Amino acid sequence: MTLRMVTNCGAGSTDDALGLAERAGEAGMAVLEGGGGAIEAVVEAIIVLEDDPRTNAGLGSRLRLDGSLQMDASLMDSDLNCGCVAGIEDVKNPIAVARKVMETPHIMLAGEGALSFAREQGFEYFDPKTEKSVERLEKIKKKLEEGDVPDWAGKWRDYRVGTVGAVAVDGEGKMASGNSTGGTSFMLPGRVGDTPIIGAGIYCGGHGAVSATGIGEDIVRQVMSLRVFDKMGEGMSAKEACEWGMTLFPHEIPVGVVAVSRSDSAAVSNRQMASWIGEI
Ligand code: ASP
Repeated sequence: MTLRMVTNCGAGSTDDALGLAERAGEAGMAVLEGGGGAIEAVVEAIIVLEDDPRTNAGLGSRLRLDGSLQMDASLMDSDLNCGCVAGIEDVKNPIAVARKVMETPHIMLAGEGALSFAREQGFEYFDPKTEKSVERLEKIKKKLEEGDVPDWAGKWRDYRVGTVGAVAVDGEGKMASGNSTGGTSFMLPGRVGDTPIIGAGIYCGGHGAVSATGIGEDIVRQVMSLRVFDKMGEGMSAKEACEWGMTLFPHEIPVGVVAVSRSDSAAVSNRQMASWIGEI
């Protein structure tokens, strides 16, 4: 069985993040090579990505218009086990909390409920804000004060890259998908995008694992991850299915997707996207 691991730093991420995608991918691959499961490999890779302040996930995540920092993350494996958190604050690694949610009868915990669950599970207080994330919000607020008011159809789509994702196949042929984000720009507190929505931000099943990035609202409308997964079920390779996924969106909508099937691995975006593909 070929071990497969794919990581990405978000639609629009540049070559500067290539080394990071590789480091995260190698961390995940090391788990697989040690006999670990796909889900643990995906969690390991995403923790590396969340801990880097350059990504819009975990440390350094995008702030909301009110200055709050709310993160979304999700996990799914090929036995259809899922774990998601939405709008979680004050934790270091939302993906690790999503992993714990997987062990409950639930699929998603949101907001304060997600946070109190995290604390019960031993996740300590951590403020993921950075000077840069505060500076970015100040710039947005200045724009708004200057009358550069966003509208839902236009600037609310403004986009900051750096959501992270990973997919894997382990030695037993089990697969997993994961995703983690601080969201997009000009976000109201409470906004949830595609990232923690099963079928939209991620999907995983017996024949493939998929993880999406880009403007969450558009990805949800297209239920992108499930549809790319279904195309693999109809016989497309992961690469063909990811390329097909891009055709669901007009070019002005930044979007990207990573996927693995039993026979290939792919990372495709209509923008630059720092990604890493490992196969052993
Ligand atoms: N999909 C994420 C969201 O809309 C953003 C991203 O992928 O960069 O929250």
